[in-house]
Amino acid sequence: MQSLTLNNGIHMPALGLGVFQTPPQETRSAVTAALELGYRHIDTAAAYGNEREVGQAIRDFEGPRDDIFIETKIWISDYGYDQTLHAFDKSAAKLGVDQIDLLILHQALPSEFDQTLAAYRALERLLADGRVRAIGVSNFMVDHLTTLLDATTVVPAVNQLEIHPYFQQRAVLDFGAKHHIVSQAWSPIGGITFYPGYGENRGSVLQDPAVTRIAETHGKSPAQVLLRWGIQQGRSVIPKSTRRERIAENIDVFDFELTAGELAALDALETGRRGGPEPEAVTLAAYGRAIPEA
Ligand code: NDP
Repeated sequence: MQSLTLNNGIHMPALGLGVFQTPPQETRSAVTAALELGYRHIDTAAAYGNEREVGQAIRDFEGPRDDIFIETKIWISDYGYDQTLHAFDKSAAKLGVDQIDLLILHQALPSEFDQTLAAYRALERLLADGRVRAIGVSNFMVDHLTTLLDATTVVPAVNQLEIHPYFQQRAVLDFGAKHHIVSQAWSPIGGITFYPGYGENRGSVLQDPAVTRIAETHGKSPAQVLLRWGIQQGRSVIPKSTRRERIAENIDVFDFELTAGELAALDALETGRRGGPEPEAVTLAAYGRAIPEA
């Protein structure tokens, strides 16, 4: 498994399993399948309601525990210094671990950015205390990152963002590259482009003719091409599936190479249309549901 070196020297497997929308009762089998198939990085979140099952699958795994990289996220209802320290305790207890490899803030809270900064300072404290090995953010735009870098000490190791060929966020990616922040793609195979309920039907990027053509050339699937596109451009990717055969397919992306022309053809699919929530519109009133105690 290829790994990325984070800005504090920690190694993170470039590809991990995502578990957003994986029901708790299916999480254990999905994570178990992933570990058996060679995944060593799992991305969960307090808000996904399945940290406990992720932890259970990792404990049950018979291979070495130490090389499994666990990433989770603090939800916005737990922002603030003391609240975020407590949120770490909740996540660590549900996961059944003393230390979390990568802990990130799930969203900026633009209207209450002081709370966001206080939450990030709690992550810095947890890092200094060795409770986490790396810290980062998610869905932070350039202005959020700029304010964060001005107000805090530790440069985030990772910014997890919606990134697929239809929505690439190049300004944020460039800012990340300049500041040694790894960009990690959520919906790396374009899940958000085909989930029901996300506004008008924009069409699945998996079915885009440019993607299927490249897939045919390499004898690979469209999902594999999209994951390869991210990895070859230095990003981390965390595809989600609950199906063993797709979990296997999604990690089988290290035996082929896209050409510069193919990368450019995929880059050219940008639509400028975001699938996920508008970062500026994330508020406690709209999204602030409570995260249960462990
Ligand atoms: P993905 O791009 O990973 O797509 C997942 C969807 O694709 C599911 O419907 C899955 O269905 C299907 N799928 C998986 N593999 C294949 C395949 N090989 N061929 C065809 N279809 C496939 O989208 P996600 O939105 O889940 O993003 C991945 C991860 O990113 C999440 O699980 C989560 O960890 C993280 N995330 C973070 C967010 C944030 O705000 N920070 C927001 C959204 C996601 P099935 O399970 O049935 O195989």
